[in-house]
Amino acid sequence: MAERLFEHRLSDIRLLGYSVAGEETVIAAPELNVCFDVGKCPAEILAVDHILLSHGHMDHAAGMAYYFSQRNFVGNAAGTLLCSAHLVEPFRDLMKVWARIERHPSPAKIVGVEPGQDFEIRKGLLARTFAVNHGYPALGFTLIDVRHKLRPEFADRSGPQLVELKKQGVEIQQRIEVPLVAFCGDTAEGNYLALDHVRKAKVLIMECTFIEEDHVRRAREGYHMHVRDLARILPKMENEWFLLTHLSRRTAMRDARKALARLVDESVMSRVRFLMEGQRVGSRPGVVKDETSEPRTS
Ligand SMILES: [Zn+2]
Ligand SMILES: [Zn+2]
Repeated sequence: MAERLFEHRLSDIRLLGYSVAGEETVIAAPELNVCFDVGKCPAEILAVDHILLSHGHMDHAAGMAYYFSQRNFVGNAAGTLLCSAHLVEPFRDLMKVWARIERHPSPAKIVGVEPGQDFEIRKGLLARTFAVNHGYPALGFTLIDVRHKLRPEFADRSGPQLVELKKQGVEIQQRIEVPLVAFCGDTAEGNYLALDHVRKAKVLIMECTFIEEDHVRRAREGYHMHVRDLARILPKMENEWFLLTHLSRRTAMRDARKALARLVDESVMSRVRFLMEGQRVGSRPGVVKDETSEPRTS
């Protein structure tokens, strides 16, 4: 498993993963205790307690059973898979079939969610779901940091005064949502791009499956993004960072970067990272190896 995942630190959020269209997508935010998709299940994500699954295509979901089985094997609690409601029954069936094959069950928490729902990852951290546009019921997820701040009109009050106001039932705090990471999974352009928590997330994780000029139609047919779509979309977004994923295996990262750089200006391009051009993660968790960032393209 050594040195296969790529690591990025964007807006103080550590993201590590691997993503090639049709092969495997897995992107973890270990400090936030979530992993987006589980195309295969690298050892680095076994300690993460929540898998947020965008959709049921094999390159995003095939690691599900292995995740539960390995966590059980190393003595971790079951872990939770969040997925579209329509996938809950087939996934539970799949776990039952694996229990017959292995002759023992692996505990699994499989939770169905609908678009627009909030799921509490931990106190003060939500995963908010949204529908994307993949020609298949697919979800995106935004991780939202929820904070409570004193309302500005009470800023000059003393501690005892605030306690008194609270006793009187005055709402002295306001709830603030800070969207941290929005993961859009596999998707073409769609209404979800107008959602505030997607537009303003510190990091937007977006697919970029095609870059060749003559592949626009293929992108449309598969409900995927072409680099031309991103050139239109990204300048309108307010994210600090764009992390691009899901390129085809034959696309070299430097060609993808060049193709996008031809279409957008530097103010956008300076916020773009391709997942697969990050630093490789060492075989020991948390250790980053100092290597060239050129990914294999074969
Ligand atoms: Zn895919
Ligand atoms: Zn897909």
